[in-house]
Amino acid sequence: MDDCIFCRIVDKQIPSRIVYEDDSILAFHDIDPKAPVHVLVIPKQHIPSINEVTQENSQVIAHIFATMPKIAQQLGIKDSGYRVVVNCGKDAGQAVNHLHYHVLGGRSLTWPPG
Ligand code: AMP
Ligand code: ZN
Repeated sequence: MDDCIFCRIVDKQIPSRIVYEDDSILAFHDIDPKAPVHVLVIPKQHIPSINEVTQENSQVIAHIFATMPKIAQQLGIKDSGYRVVVNCGKDAGQAVNHLHYHVLGGRSLTWPPG
């Protein structure tokens, strides 16, 4: 997916501040953070959005959640708490069409987000 910015980050064609990487997922700091800690966790495989998650490709989703506590620990927000957000489609304001989980923390987070 040459035209996908997150695929290009996975391929290291675009620099990012990586906080975690393994064979199937990557976590890196959001370029425009909305909280003191704002990291994006993505599958390396190009899945455009939640709408394209299937039984066949969902193992990586479980792996993302199983790894998130480790990433949160590394970022120092595991015990203070954090919010995980996924935008899907136009009305949610999904800007990058490569599935990604926003992990936000480092301050008290109000709801709805401002
Ligand atoms: P969403 O609106 O859910 O699609 O979120 C896309 C997120 O990607 C936004 O929070 C952007 O700030 C972030 N973003 C876009 N380009 C980059 C990049 N090159 N490196 C890191 N984060 C990015
Ligand atoms: Zn992609």
